[in-house]
Amino acid sequence: MDNCIFCKIARGEIPSKKVYEDAEVFAFHDINPQAPVHFMMIPKRHIASLTDATMDDAGVLGRMLALSGRLAREQGLPEGYRTIINTGRIGRQEVMHLHLHVLGGPQPLGRMMPRPDA
Ligand code: AMP
Ligand code: ZN
Repeated sequence: MDNCIFCKIARGEIPSKKVYEDAEVFAFHDINPQAPVHFMMIPKRHIASLTDATMDDAGVLGRMLALSGRLAREQGLPEGYRTIINTGRIGRQEVMHLHLHVLGGPQPLGRMMPRPDA
């Protein structure tokens, strides 16, 4: 996708703080971290959101999940982390290129779900 910010990050056309890269997956730190460690994993191939994914995407989506533990440990999260995929308007997805947030820090995170509009 020509105009997608995360496609541009995956292609190296927009700078990012890279965490990991292979043929299918790119990972980089969130520009506005919501926890002491906050990075995102994306498929290099443009998938707008989880609701647009098909069985053709099962491999790369599984790869992202399977890699998350290793990357989290490498980023200093040996005791666990939270993964989030926001999807569509209801999920408050802001960037329309599927991304898996990985968040954590030295202390347990806050509750999983704040109240709406909190
Ligand atoms: P979401 O609300 O799940 O769509 O999350 C989008 C995330 O992308 C937010 O946490 C932003 O801080 C992050 N973000 C937006 N632009 C950039 C960028 N250029 N580099 C890194 N993270 C970004
Ligand atoms: Zn994209």
